[in-house]
Amino acid sequence: MRIAVIGTGYVGLVAGTCFAESGNTVTCIDIDKDKIDRLNSGEVPIYEPGLEELLKRNVRDGRLKFTTNYAEGVPNAHIAFIAVGTPPGQDGSADVKYVLAAARSIAEHMTGYMVVVDKSTVPVGTAARVSDAISGNTEHSFDVVSNPEFLKEGAAIADFLKPDRVVIGSGSERATRLMDELYEPFVRTGNPIIHMAVAGAELTKYAANAMLATRISFMNEIANLCARVGANVDDVRRGMGSDERIGSRFLFSGVGYGGSCFPKDVQAIVKTAEVHGYDFEIMKAVESVNESQKRLLFEMINAHYGGDLTGKRFAIWGLAFKPNTDDMREAPAIVVIEALLEAGATVCAHDPEAVDECKRHYLGDKIEYSASPLAALQGANALVVITEWNEFRRPDFDVVKEALTEPIIFDGRNIYPRETLETAGFTYYGIGR
Ligand code: NAD
Repeated sequence: MRIAVIGTGYVGLVAGTCFAESGNTVTCIDIDKDKIDRLNSGEVPIYEPGLEELLKRNVRDGRLKFTTNYAEGVPNAHIAFIAVGTPPGQDGSADVKYVLAAARSIAEHMTGYMVVVDKSTVPVGTAARVSDAISGNTEHSFDVVSNPEFLKEGAAIADFLKPDRVVIGSGSERATRLMDELYEPFVRTGNPIIHMAVAGAELTKYAANAMLATRISFMNEIANLCARVGANVDDVRRGMGSDERIGSRFLFSGVGYGGSCFPKDVQAIVKTAEVHGYDFEIMKAVESVNESQKRLLFEMINAHYGGDLTGKRFAIWGLAFKPNTDDMREAPAIVVIEALLEAGATVCAHDPEAVDECKRHYLGDKIEYSASPLAALQGANALVVITEWNEFRRPDFDVVKEALTEPIIFDGRNIYPRETLETAGFTYYGIGR
């Protein structure tokens, strides 16, 4: 099939590459010229494990190309995927202006029947608006389908190639047939393609993210309670998670959720509810718990030093909002570091992939960066772990102790065994243990 993918971000680039990998001819279109130039010169602008190799192979084999010009990808395509950003507007609702702009550009370049797919996460009712945007700009027939994306950054390629499920919201048999044909190679192991009406598909994505964010905020509140009653949240988690109705995944407490999806999607579902006259109380609480949780680590640090952080220096391990990505959107690290700086402390940070992103778009030269985890520790008063990259999990604690001016670890992800560290002479702080 001939596919156009609009938007070459974390979703569009992975989707385009994976569609090419299953033999389709794919044109990825983005209005960001710098991004497209980098892609055309063989540079992959984001860090996503496995993406570079797959992308280069498909470019080499002529199935995948990148352009800023809709005229090079949309005419004669069977399906166009809209995978542009849907950032939160002022009031928390998802801003779909990029989606509608992409829809208009598709309409201006289509040359015959086409399926236009909302791959971006968009509020209920957006497919109808996309449909209006297209019909106002073309004479050709088309169908709009909702096909939300569930990939996880850091495991995006595997998630896309072998999805747990594919959700297709469509009111057209012709469009559904084409979508089924496209996705058939991805669900050969038997995972379902779930068909439904468009509104259900649009809401499914928000409901899934809202549920996941709820688990995180719930476990963070359990952890905060553990800290007060003298229980260990790891014990509680294992005890709870073995109930198959609950399940053991996604029950870890920490410094709160971040990233480009949970924060904005939680806000957006609250807003959608509000617009329809419903007060979505749980999701409001999930968000406010998360806001407090992002500050918790700073408050622990501040309390340890008696409220005076002037002149203190901290080694930060982990900037990205989670491991295996360079994405720093809404990362808890930003909140913790900014609070430390405001309190008069200095920071030296290490992250295996997100340093450039952090320098360029977030903290610039307000902090120091180090090329290795151990170098960040030199002369620091304490180590603060914010992202649970694997390489942070089992350092040589003798070396860590030697490098710090005092043996103190604030473990925002509960990755270290408290007893081992205390036996080794560290003062250890975790979340709810
Ligand atoms: P992103 O910000 O990384 O990328 C969006 C891209 O779209 C940018 O490169 C931008 O230049 C481009 N763009 C904007 N307007 C355009 C236009 N008119 N024409 C062509 N290109 C245009 O975003 P992302 O993280 O890939 O997310 C995209 C969508 O997918 C969002 O709705 C998001 O909620 C959803 N989503 C994201 C993830 C994730 O893990 N990142 C997972 C599932 C769903």
